[in-house]
Amino acid sequence: MQPFLTRLGLVASNPGAAAGAFIDTKGREVASVDPATGDVIASVRLASRADYETVVAAAEKAFVKWRMVPAPQRGEIVRQIAEALRAHKDDLGRLVTLEVGKLLSEGLGEVQEGIDVCDYAVGLSRSMAGLTLHSERPNHRMYEQWHPLGLVGVITAFNFPHAVWAWNSMLGLVCGDAVVWKPSIKAPLTAIATHKICEEVLAKHGHSGVFGLVIGEDKEVGEAMIHDHRFPLISATGSTRMGKIVGKAVAERLGRSLLELGGNNAIIVNKDADLDLALRAVAFGAVGTAGQRCTSTRRLYLHEDIADTFLTRLVKVYGSIKIGNPQEDGVLCGPLIDEDAVRMYEHAVKTAQEQGGKLLYGGERLPGGAGKGTYVKPSIVACSEAIAMSREETFAPILYVFRFKDVDDAIDRNNAVVQGLSSSMFTDSFRAAETFLSARGSDCGIANINIGTSGAEIGGAFGGEKETGGGRESGSDSWKAYMRRQTCTMNWGKDLPLAQGVKFDI
Ligand code: NAD
Repeated sequence: MQPFLTRLGLVASNPGAAAGAFIDTKGREVASVDPATGDVIASVRLASRADYETVVAAAEKAFVKWRMVPAPQRGEIVRQIAEALRAHKDDLGRLVTLEVGKLLSEGLGEVQEGIDVCDYAVGLSRSMAGLTLHSERPNHRMYEQWHPLGLVGVITAFNFPHAVWAWNSMLGLVCGDAVVWKPSIKAPLTAIATHKICEEVLAKHGHSGVFGLVIGEDKEVGEAMIHDHRFPLISATGSTRMGKIVGKAVAERLGRSLLELGGNNAIIVNKDADLDLALRAVAFGAVGTAGQRCTSTRRLYLHEDIADTFLTRLVKVYGSIKIGNPQEDGVLCGPLIDEDAVRMYEHAVKTAQEQGGKLLYGGERLPGGAGKGTYVKPSIVACSEAIAMSREETFAPILYVFRFKDVDDAIDRNNAVVQGLSSSMFTDSFRAAETFLSARGSDCGIANINIGTSGAEIGGAFGGEKETGGGRESGSDSWKAYMRRQTCTMNWGKDLPLAQGVKFDI
């Protein structure tokens, strides 16, 4: 075992964590595999339904105490969690890289994102505010206040095994909620290490159980969580397929769901764009993280005046990108998460060609170190809207390229897919940029000018429209999703006037 794994406390851990203690579960053992080499890093035993009950019961109990802690004091504990994450940033970032195959700078960046959200949440803890309103009745005061919501169930995808949890949990924590996390079983070690770091801080303050962790099968614990009335909010990040199941289950019990689902993000490069900027953004968006970000660039719309020049340069850049173990210097494209992902990549490239797409680059699997690892060549496919494959999200580095003559048409085509997460336009035209950002412009949750689709800062609300699910997390007023709103009216007079002039004199 590598020393940093020992430093993170990842030795003989069990996955069901309730009130600080890891449960000695007897569940099935699953291996966490380094996708760069195919080597098993460690194994984890999955939580059973009974373990799930133990964790939720502990969270319920912890919530009763936690909700009464004043928000700024909750913020102080979150500040200390940020300090603990800072102390472990290097080790935790390395673990993210090892477990999901991101570049080390991205692994570290993901932990930094967790720290940033903590800092943001600390500020929120003193600034989450309700409204004071004017009552129509004399000697009455009316106001809105926000209370903790209760238990929040957080379901996360494999590709952001730390940051997405932090977006939800740090906001949930300052809002006074207890948070139970069901991570992807493709990244269990990052979840265990993250949980341990935070639990230590919470336990020091007598709040063990406010964070719970259950690593288990979707059928065994995932389904239990989404149908569980004890969770007023389920925040789920993952594929649209999963979101449709979660959304329906939560809606049936009239709970709230916050869904962050798949994207099919496009960059439009106008004829007046700074092509150097656009080239870097397209390469990072389409190839970075091996195309395994929800915001990865999957479609590229090129103005016909610059299309040939741009494509020639793009193919050259693709040829220069070093693919390999993300722990090695100079590597810019790591592996896909597993064999299933490679199969999906191969299927998509083959199907797109059968539908009429022309492969301009890539399209094949690459051998990893010693014949292992799940590497593919990033692909570029010259395309038209007739190619149905380009309307789907394949979680791999495949870029579908289209041509356009006029900006309005390019915007319409940007919007003509079922997903609505991220979008961007490269242009030096003020009119084109403002059109893209206007109400007739991009219909996505994120719209950028002269910035690619991939990556976002924590200060803005993050999320997308249509089949991306409509949820908003992280910055801005996203905290409101984790609280319940109460409208209060206070009568300090000696009469009982009724609203709307209604009379009821007895
Ligand atoms: P996935 O849908 O396979 O799994 C996501 C999570 O949902 C996992 O924890 C999984 O165990 C859980 N899950 C699946 N079925 C469930 C069920 N029936 N009940 C309860 N839980 C269930 O996704 P993935 O392969 O891990 O991640 C890739 C996907 O996530 C892509 O589609 C990507 O776009 C999306 N994603 C979206 C965002 C965003 O913010 N919009 C961020 C990251 C990833």
